[in-house]
Amino acid sequence: MTVGRLAHSPAAADHTESVARPRPTDAASAAVWDLAATVVDPEVPVLTIADLGILREASVSGGSVLVSITPTYSGCPAVEAIRDDIVTVLAAAGYSDVAVRVVLSPAWTTDWMSADGKRKLEEFGIAPPTGTRPAGPVSLGLGVRCPHCGSLHTRQLSRFGSTSCKALYACQRCQEPFDFFKDH
Ligand SMILES: [Zn+2]
Repeated sequence: MTVGRLAHSPAAADHTESVARPRPTDAASAAVWDLAATVVDPEVPVLTIADLGILREASVSGGSVLVSITPTYSGCPAVEAIRDDIVTVLAAAGYSDVAVRVVLSPAWTTDWMSADGKRKLEEFGIAPPTGTRPAGPVSLGLGVRCPHCGSLHTRQLSRFGSTSCKALYACQRCQEPFDFFKDH
């Protein structure tokens, strides 16, 4: 597993996303947060764990570092890779006493994905979770926008795409298939 390192984007002070990205306010913890926030999700390597809202907490107490993560779904096979990557990134920065805690409750939701993350997903060719999509059968593709041409005339081909958290869609305008990151 390679440790992905994206340029740090100053996610900082978007208060509307404070639930999704509880970046600590004290400098020592924020420094750890910013390092952990560079780790990418193995399944969606264009997104960092901060973009996804998987990164929940970072704190420094004495010489000990605690990082908490909430996987996108329980049993997510990426958890171990993410945990290892966090430890590796922090070790490279000189933090030797690092504990990574997996927190399953409250459960992760696509609402924790940052606006930045959704934009990156779309650029990557994956339709981001819509969040505000009106209630209705997802199978009709209501509100799922084609990441290639922007058309809303899309339909679901399969409930599961390249991973179980995605569904496979096809655009009826440009004919391109694409993954939709399902809301949950
Ligand atoms: Zn299209």
